[in-house]
Amino acid sequence: MSLVVVGSMAFDAIETPFGKSDKIVGGAGTYIAWCASNFTPVKQISIVGGDFPQSELDALTARNVNLEGVQIKKNEKTFFWSGRYHMDMNTRDTLETQLNVLENFQPVVPDSYQDCEYLMLGNLVPAVQTSVITQLKTRPKLIVMDTMNFWMEIAMDDLKKTISMVDVLMVNDSEARQLSGDFSLVRAAGTIMKMGPKYLIIKKGEHGALLFHEDKVFFAPALPLEDVFDPTGAGDTFAGGFMGHIAKTNDISFENMKTAIIVGSAMASFCVEKFGTERIRAVDKTEIDARLAEFVQLVNFDISLV
Ligand code: AMP
Repeated sequence: MSLVVVGSMAFDAIETPFGKSDKIVGGAGTYIAWCASNFTPVKQISIVGGDFPQSELDALTARNVNLEGVQIKKNEKTFFWSGRYHMDMNTRDTLETQLNVLENFQPVVPDSYQDCEYLMLGNLVPAVQTSVITQLKTRPKLIVMDTMNFWMEIAMDDLKKTISMVDVLMVNDSEARQLSGDFSLVRAAGTIMKMGPKYLIIKKGEHGALLFHEDKVFFAPALPLEDVFDPTGAGDTFAGGFMGHIAKTNDISFENMKTAIIVGSAMASFCVEKFGTERIRAVDKTEIDARLAEFVQLVNFDISLV
Protein backbone atom coordinates (compact mmCIF):
# COMPACT_ATOMS: atom_id res chain seq x y z
CA MET A 1 0.00 0.00 0.00
CA SER A 2 1.13 3.52 -0.52
CA LEU A 3 0.77 6.58 1.69
CA VAL A 4 0.85 10.01 0.04
CA VAL A 5 1.39 13.00 2.33
CA VAL A 6 0.66 16.59 1.38
CA GLY A 7 1.63 19.50 3.61
CA SER A 8 3.75 22.57 4.16
CA MET A 9 7.52 22.30 4.49
CA ALA A 10 8.66 25.39 6.31
CA PHE A 11 10.91 27.50 8.41
CA ASP A 12 9.46 28.23 11.86
CA ALA A 13 10.45 30.67 14.59
CA ILE A 14 8.99 29.60 17.93
CA GLU A 15 8.69 31.27 21.31
CA THR A 16 7.60 29.34 24.38
CA PRO A 17 7.69 30.41 28.04
CA PHE A 18 10.85 28.29 28.30
CA GLY A 19 12.83 29.29 25.24
CA LYS A 20 13.00 30.73 21.79
CA SER A 21 14.22 29.20 18.52
CA ASP A 22 15.90 30.83 15.55
CA LYS A 23 14.51 29.93 12.16
CA ILE A 24 14.30 26.13 12.26
CA VAL A 25 12.92 23.58 9.86
CA GLY A 26 9.24 22.78 10.41
CA GLY A 27 6.04 22.54 8.43
CA ALA A 28 3.05 20.24 8.68
CA GLY A 29 4.27 17.98 5.86
CA THR A 30 7.73 17.72 7.42
CA TYR A 31 6.40 16.57 10.81
CA ILE A 32 3.94 14.14 9.21
CA ALA A 33 6.65 12.59 7.02
CA TRP A 34 9.13 12.17 9.89
CA CYS A 35 6.47 10.54 12.01
CA ALA A 36 4.64 8.36 9.45
CA SER A 37 7.91 7.00 8.04
CA ASN A 38 8.27 5.04 11.30
CA PHE A 39 5.37 2.91 10.10
CA THR A 40 5.36 2.88 6.29
CA PRO A 41 7.16 4.49 3.31
CA VAL A 42 5.88 7.98 2.44
CA LYS A 43 5.37 9.74 -0.89
CA GLN A 44 5.58 13.45 -0.19
CA ILE A 45 3.95 16.39 -2.02
CA SER A 46 5.08 19.88 -1.07
CA ILE A 47 7.10 22.90 -2.17
CA VAL A 48 10.21 24.63 -0.81
CA GLY A 49 12.40 27.54 -1.86
CA GLY A 50 16.09 27.48 -2.77
CA ASP A 51 16.85 28.41 0.86
CA PHE A 52 15.59 25.03 2.21
CA PRO A 53 18.60 22.93 3.28
CA GLN A 54 19.44 20.04 0.95
CA SER A 55 20.64 18.13 4.02
CA GLU A 56 17.04 18.15 5.37
CA LEU A 57 15.73 16.72 2.11
CA ASP A 58 18.48 14.08 2.11
CA ALA A 59 17.63 13.12 5.69
CA LEU A 60 13.99 12.54 4.69
CA THR A 61 15.04 10.52 1.64
CA ALA A 62 17.17 8.34 3.91
CA ARG A 63 14.02 7.70 5.96
CA ASN A 64 12.14 6.25 2.98
CA VAL A 65 10.32 9.49 2.17
CA ASN A 66 10.01 9.82 -1.62
CA LEU A 67 10.42 13.50 -2.57
CA GLU A 68 9.55 13.24 -6.27
CA GLY A 69 6.43 15.32 -5.59
CA VAL A 70 8.33 18.09 -3.75
CA GLN A 71 8.97 21.11 -5.95
CA ILE A 72 12.07 23.21 -5.31
CA LYS A 73 11.77 26.85 -6.46
CA LYS A 74 15.41 27.88 -6.55
CA ASN A 75 14.83 31.64 -6.68
CA GLU A 76 12.03 31.81 -4.13
CA LYS A 77 11.71 31.58 -0.36
CA THR A 78 10.33 28.72 1.71
CA PHE A 79 7.05 29.22 3.64
CA PHE A 80 7.71 30.88 7.01
CA TRP A 81 5.62 30.76 10.18
CA SER A 82 6.25 32.15 13.63
CA GLY A 83 4.25 31.58 16.78
CA ARG A 84 4.27 32.28 20.49
CA TYR A 85 2.86 29.89 23.08
CA HIS A 86 0.95 31.02 26.14
CA MET A 87 1.93 29.92 29.63
CA ASP A 88 -0.39 26.85 29.48
CA MET A 89 1.46 25.65 26.30
CA ASN A 90 -1.93 24.58 24.98
CA THR A 91 -2.76 27.80 23.17
CA ARG A 92 -0.64 30.00 20.92
CA ASP A 93 -0.74 33.11 18.78
CA THR A 94 0.51 33.15 15.22
CA LEU A 95 2.90 36.10 15.00
CA GLU A 96 3.62 35.92 11.29
CA THR A 97 2.76 33.82 8.24
CA GLN A 98 4.76 34.39 5.04
CA LEU A 99 3.29 32.18 2.33
CA ASN A 100 6.23 32.72 -0.09
CA VAL A 101 6.39 29.60 -2.34
CA LEU A 102 2.98 28.45 -1.08
CA GLU A 103 1.30 31.48 -2.65
CA ASN A 104 1.29 30.07 -6.20
CA PHE A 105 1.80 26.38 -5.48
CA GLN A 106 0.34 24.14 -8.21
CA PRO A 107 0.94 20.59 -6.98
CA VAL A 108 1.71 17.92 -9.56
CA VAL A 109 1.01 14.35 -8.52
CA PRO A 110 3.77 12.16 -10.06
CA ASP A 111 2.67 9.05 -11.96
CA SER A 112 4.50 6.92 -9.42
CA TYR A 113 2.11 8.25 -6.72
CA GLN A 114 -1.03 7.03 -8.55
CA ASP A 115 -0.98 3.82 -6.48
CA CYS A 116 -1.97 5.95 -3.44
CA GLU A 117 -4.25 4.02 -1.11
CA TYR A 118 -3.99 6.39 1.83
CA LEU A 119 -3.93 10.16 1.40
CA MET A 120 -2.96 12.43 4.30
CA LEU A 121 -3.77 16.04 3.49
CA GLY A 122 -1.71 17.97 6.02
CA ASN A 123 -2.26 21.63 6.74
CA LEU A 124 -1.92 23.60 3.51
CA VAL A 125 -3.85 25.85 1.11
CA PRO A 126 -7.27 24.12 0.77
CA ALA A 127 -7.29 24.50 -3.04
CA VAL A 128 -3.96 22.63 -3.15
CA GLN A 129 -5.44 19.82 -1.04
CA THR A 130 -8.42 19.62 -3.43
CA SER A 131 -6.14 19.60 -6.47
CA VAL A 132 -4.28 16.55 -5.16
CA ILE A 133 -7.56 14.67 -4.57
CA THR A 134 -8.77 15.42 -8.09
CA GLN A 135 -5.45 14.48 -9.72
CA LEU A 136 -5.62 10.95 -8.29
CA LYS A 137 -7.18 8.66 -10.90
CA THR A 138 -8.44 6.16 -8.32
CA ARG A 139 -9.97 7.36 -5.07
CA PRO A 140 -7.77 6.31 -2.12
CA LYS A 141 -9.20 3.95 0.50
CA LEU A 142 -9.04 6.74 3.07
CA ILE A 143 -8.54 10.50 2.76
CA VAL A 144 -7.67 12.27 6.00
CA MET A 145 -7.41 16.05 6.20
CA ASP A 146 -5.93 18.50 8.68
CA THR A 147 -6.36 22.27 8.50
CA MET A 148 -6.19 25.35 10.72
CA ASN A 149 -7.93 28.59 11.67
CA PHE A 150 -5.74 30.58 9.23
CA TRP A 151 -7.54 28.97 6.25
CA MET A 152 -10.95 29.41 7.90
CA GLU A 153 -10.23 33.12 8.02
CA ILE A 154 -8.99 33.62 4.45
CA ALA A 155 -10.39 30.73 2.38
CA MET A 156 -13.54 29.37 4.06
CA ASP A 157 -15.37 28.52 0.81
CA ASP A 158 -12.40 26.59 -0.62
CA LEU A 159 -11.95 24.91 2.74
CA LYS A 160 -15.57 23.73 2.90
CA LYS A 161 -15.21 22.30 -0.60
CA THR A 162 -12.15 20.26 0.45
CA ILE A 163 -13.84 19.16 3.67
CA SER A 164 -16.79 17.85 1.63
CA MET A 165 -14.41 15.51 -0.26
CA VAL A 166 -12.61 13.77 2.63
CA ASP A 167 -13.36 10.81 4.89
CA VAL A 168 -11.74 12.02 8.10
CA LEU A 169 -11.24 15.61 9.26
CA MET A 170 -8.82 16.52 12.06
CA VAL A 171 -9.06 19.88 13.78
CA ASN A 172 -8.36 21.19 17.25
CA ASP A 173 -11.15 22.16 19.63
CA SER A 174 -11.12 25.90 18.88
CA GLU A 175 -11.10 25.20 15.13
CA ALA A 176 -14.07 22.81 15.53
CA ARG A 177 -15.95 25.60 17.31
CA GLN A 178 -14.96 28.16 14.65
CA LEU A 179 -15.94 25.87 11.78
CA SER A 180 -19.31 24.88 13.25
CA GLY A 181 -20.18 28.09 15.08
CA ASP A 182 -21.09 25.96 18.10
CA PHE A 183 -19.40 25.90 21.52
CA SER A 184 -20.50 22.35 22.35
CA LEU A 185 -17.97 19.96 20.79
CA VAL A 186 -20.60 17.21 20.54
CA ARG A 187 -22.96 19.46 18.57
CA ALA A 188 -20.00 20.85 16.60
CA ALA A 189 -19.06 17.29 15.62
CA GLY A 190 -22.59 16.65 14.33
CA THR A 191 -22.54 19.85 12.29
CA ILE A 192 -19.08 19.16 10.82
CA MET A 193 -19.85 15.54 9.87
CA LYS A 194 -22.87 16.88 7.92
CA MET A 195 -20.34 18.88 5.84
CA GLY A 196 -18.98 15.59 4.40
CA PRO A 197 -16.48 13.68 6.57
CA LYS A 198 -17.78 10.43 8.07
CA TYR A 199 -15.23 10.68 10.87
CA LEU A 200 -14.09 13.68 12.87
CA ILE A 201 -11.10 13.88 15.19
CA ILE A 202 -11.00 16.81 17.60
CA LYS A 203 -7.53 17.36 19.12
CA LYS A 204 -7.46 18.91 22.56
CA GLY A 205 -3.72 19.25 23.12
CA GLU A 206 -2.69 18.07 26.57
CA HIS A 207 -6.31 16.97 27.11
CA GLY A 208 -6.21 14.25 24.46
CA ALA A 209 -8.33 13.69 21.37
CA LEU A 210 -11.91 12.68 20.51
CA LEU A 211 -12.90 10.49 17.58
CA PHE A 212 -16.50 10.87 16.36
CA HIS A 213 -18.32 8.59 13.90
CA GLU A 214 -22.10 8.48 13.48
CA ASP A 215 -23.35 8.41 17.08
CA LYS A 216 -20.14 6.86 18.45
CA VAL A 217 -17.39 8.68 20.27
CA PHE A 218 -13.99 7.48 21.50
CA PHE A 219 -11.55 9.37 23.70
CA ALA A 220 -7.75 9.00 23.76
CA PRO A 221 -5.81 10.81 26.49
CA ALA A 222 -2.54 12.62 26.00
CA LEU A 223 0.30 11.22 28.09
CA PRO A 224 0.80 13.43 31.17
CA LEU A 225 4.39 14.65 30.73
CA GLU A 226 6.63 16.29 33.29
CA ASP A 227 8.15 18.66 30.71
CA VAL A 228 6.52 20.01 27.59
CA PHE A 229 9.15 21.97 25.74
CA ASP A 230 7.61 22.90 22.39
CA PRO A 231 4.13 21.80 21.18
CA THR A 232 4.80 22.90 17.57
CA GLY A 233 4.06 20.08 15.17
CA ALA A 234 2.28 17.95 17.79
CA GLY A 235 -0.93 18.00 15.72
CA ASP A 236 0.94 17.05 12.55
CA THR A 237 2.87 14.33 14.35
CA PHE A 238 -0.45 13.02 15.69
CA ALA A 239 -1.71 12.93 12.09
CA GLY A 240 1.44 11.11 10.95
CA GLY A 241 1.05 8.49 13.66
CA PHE A 242 -2.66 8.06 12.97
CA MET A 243 -2.26 7.66 9.22
CA GLY A 244 1.02 5.73 9.49
CA HIS A 245 -0.72 3.12 11.63
CA ILE A 246 -3.79 2.91 9.36
CA ALA A 247 -1.61 2.50 6.25
CA LYS A 248 0.66 -0.07 7.90
CA THR A 249 -2.26 -2.21 9.09
CA ASN A 250 -4.35 -1.56 5.94
CA ASP A 251 -7.51 -1.46 8.07
CA ILE A 252 -9.95 1.46 8.03
CA SER A 253 -12.43 0.12 10.59
CA PHE A 254 -13.59 2.32 13.49
CA GLU A 255 -11.92 -0.15 15.90
CA ASN A 256 -8.56 0.29 14.16
CA MET A 257 -9.02 4.08 14.10
CA LYS A 258 -9.26 3.91 17.90
CA THR A 259 -5.82 2.26 17.99
CA ALA A 260 -4.56 4.78 15.44
CA ILE A 261 -5.46 7.75 17.63
CA ILE A 262 -3.57 6.15 20.51
CA VAL A 263 -0.56 5.73 18.20
CA GLY A 264 -0.96 9.38 17.11
CA SER A 265 -1.11 10.51 20.75
CA ALA A 266 1.99 8.47 21.62
CA MET A 267 3.95 9.98 18.72
CA ALA A 268 2.80 13.51 19.62
CA SER A 269 4.06 12.95 23.16
CA PHE A 270 7.60 12.57 21.75
CA CYS A 271 7.30 15.64 19.52
CA VAL A 272 6.70 18.08 22.38
CA GLU A 273 9.76 16.97 24.34
CA LYS A 274 12.23 19.04 22.27
CA PHE A 275 12.20 22.05 19.96
CA GLY A 276 11.09 21.54 16.35
CA THR A 277 11.59 18.17 14.69
CA GLU A 278 14.57 17.22 16.88
CA ARG A 279 12.81 14.59 18.97
CA ILE A 280 10.52 13.10 16.35
CA ARG A 281 13.36 12.50 13.89
CA ALA A 282 15.35 10.57 16.49
CA VAL A 283 12.68 8.30 17.94
CA ASP A 284 12.99 4.54 17.30
CA LYS A 285 10.73 1.48 17.43
CA THR A 286 11.81 0.42 20.92
CA GLU A 287 10.89 3.85 22.33
CA ILE A 288 7.58 3.88 20.42
CA ASP A 289 6.62 0.43 21.75
CA ALA A 290 7.53 1.43 25.32
CA ARG A 291 5.42 4.57 25.08
CA LEU A 292 2.46 2.68 23.66
CA ALA A 293 2.72 0.37 26.68
CA GLU A 294 2.55 3.47 28.93
CA PHE A 295 -0.70 4.43 27.20
CA VAL A 296 -2.13 0.98 27.86
CA GLN A 297 -1.29 1.40 31.56
CA LEU A 298 -2.72 4.92 31.61
CA VAL A 299 -6.22 3.89 30.55
CA ASN A 300 -6.40 0.32 31.84
CA PHE A 301 -8.80 -0.29 34.71
CA ASP A 302 -11.20 -2.91 36.03
CA ILE A 303 -14.69 -2.23 37.17
CA SER A 304 -17.40 -4.56 38.36
CA LEU A 305 -20.90 -3.14 38.16
CA VAL A 306 -23.36 -4.59 40.64
P1 AMP B 1 0.85 22.18 14.57
O1 AMP B 1 1.63 22.64 15.77
O2 AMP B 1 0.77 20.69 14.48
O3 AMP B 1 -0.48 22.84 14.43
O4 AMP B 1 1.66 22.60 13.27
C1 AMP B 1 2.71 23.51 13.27
C2 AMP B 1 3.30 23.59 11.87
O5 AMP B 1 2.32 24.10 10.97
C3 AMP B 1 4.49 24.53 11.82
O6 AMP B 1 5.66 23.79 11.60
C4 AMP B 1 4.16 25.51 10.69
O7 AMP B 1 5.21 25.63 9.76
C5 AMP B 1 2.94 24.92 10.01
N1 AMP B 1 1.97 25.97 9.65
C6 AMP B 1 1.63 27.07 10.37
N2 AMP B 1 0.70 27.80 9.71
C7 AMP B 1 0.45 27.14 8.55
C8 AMP B 1 -0.41 27.38 7.43
N3 AMP B 1 -1.21 28.46 7.39
N4 AMP B 1 -0.41 26.49 6.42
C9 AMP B 1 0.39 25.40 6.46
N5 AMP B 1 1.22 25.11 7.47
C10 AMP B 1 1.26 25.96 8.51
